[in-house]
Amino acid sequence: MTQPLFTLDAILAATGGRAEQVAAKSFDYITIDSREIGPESLFVAIKGDRFDGHDFVDAALANGAAAALVSRGEGPGRIIVPEALGGLVDIARAARARSEALIVGVTGSVGKTTTKEALRTVFEAAGETHASIKSFNNHWGVPLMLARMSETAQFGVFEMGMNAPDEIRPLSQLVRPHIAVITTIAPAHLEKLGSIEAIADAKAEIFEGLEPAGTALVNADHPQLGQLLEAAAEAGVGHVVTFGFARGADWQIIEPEMAGERSFATVVHGEDRYSLVISVAGRHMLSNATAALAAASLAGVEPAIALRALAGFGPQPGRGQRVLLGGGDKPLMLIDESYNANTASMIAALEVFASVSSPSGRKIVVLGDMLELGEAGRELHASLAGAVSGSGPDAVYLVGENMQHLQRALPQSMFSQHFTTVDEAQADLLATLAYGDAVMVKGSNGVGLSRLVAAMKDKF
Ligand code: ATP
Repeated sequence: MTQPLFTLDAILAATGGRAEQVAAKSFDYITIDSREIGPESLFVAIKGDRFDGHDFVDAALANGAAAALVSRGEGPGRIIVPEALGGLVDIARAARARSEALIVGVTGSVGKTTTKEALRTVFEAAGETHASIKSFNNHWGVPLMLARMSETAQFGVFEMGMNAPDEIRPLSQLVRPHIAVITTIAPAHLEKLGSIEAIADAKAEIFEGLEPAGTALVNADHPQLGQLLEAAAEAGVGHVVTFGFARGADWQIIEPEMAGERSFATVVHGEDRYSLVISVAGRHMLSNATAALAAASLAGVEPAIALRALAGFGPQPGRGQRVLLGGGDKPLMLIDESYNANTASMIAALEVFASVSSPSGRKIVVLGDMLELGEAGRELHASLAGAVSGSGPDAVYLVGENMQHLQRALPQSMFSQHFTTVDEAQADLLATLAYGDAVMVKGSNGVGLSRLVAAMKDKF
């Protein structure tokens, strides 16, 4: 019989909770979603922005949950704690305390999810690995992911995100990583943080949860590197390792090349040189993969094992996935970047699009607003003009208020159209697109360009 995720006794010990007629002796799954209940599930009734889990306790129990962790309401099947999110954090802390896994924490302005998935890929090749799903990286996502880590996991990988200062510190102190990765620093969430320096400081909070003798693994390709190194020293981090294209990086990427959907580079580490191949296009992806290679090596995984695994590492949904629509020798190529956007990821995606050629010779780029940039938004949108021109598009579709600033900055000779809504852009685009075209679609999640992507897939 396999070991359960948690026994009831362990949950009660961790949370100080009181069980009311709970028949189950153990749980195999912990969830906050009453729709994904299995027979051995513990449902935790946390209060989110839109819903309060307490309203779904009866549904969860009716769906077969083994128990529900609640802070209000009485009745059979409940474990009562003073505060349900606090209870989840207690369970997460217990999962971490009993674990002998090598733990990696990932934060950064862009590339967290992709790097987390690259880390999952390398560690799965070496042993039992538990990694956060999707982008579960906030004040409830991180404890939920940690609480789901089995006692037998050998590697644990956790993504940590933030919108404001003082969010990463408690997450990192909960996760207590042995390796803390900062993927990159870039203007994202500027609205709440005010400056790029404040963004770097907020990411550096990850160092404060690092285990004693742990390693900070930091991207070297941004102007805030010095600031991060100072923050690491202040936090008492004794071991800092850098990666990136920058000369002097401990894991330096040289000779990057793209060919179709694959990217190649040499990674130089001391006297060693590694041939890195990944199944996704882009220098930024080589950077994420190099972080995973370095972390694997720090964790004692043979680089050869990590490199073999990374060769199969492909794009995540909405982050550079290429889809060929329609059969025949002239399909429509869709590059789906609709998941999110800020200046760093826009530039990275446009750089990849520059290397794309289409069967018909026609290249179209659809760009939506980059949100949450505050007052700097106008200037940051306009600053993309060079990257857009450099990607060689035949037509540029711009969607959202801020994209007007980009349109004004584009060369007059470039064909561009501005739309206020996704629906307007979609109607025009679908009427003009033809098989053989290559189209890249990118914008902040909130703009809703994923709808346009879905409509393209429907039509072609
Ligand atoms: P979010 O906080 O929005 O969930 P994230 O930090 O998890 O984002 P990803 O989801 O991995 O980042 O990627 C978001 C976008 O940034 C995608 O378009 C992706 O291709 C791009 N991207 C990924 N890694 C990098 C990188 N190192 N530099 C620049 N852009 C990147």
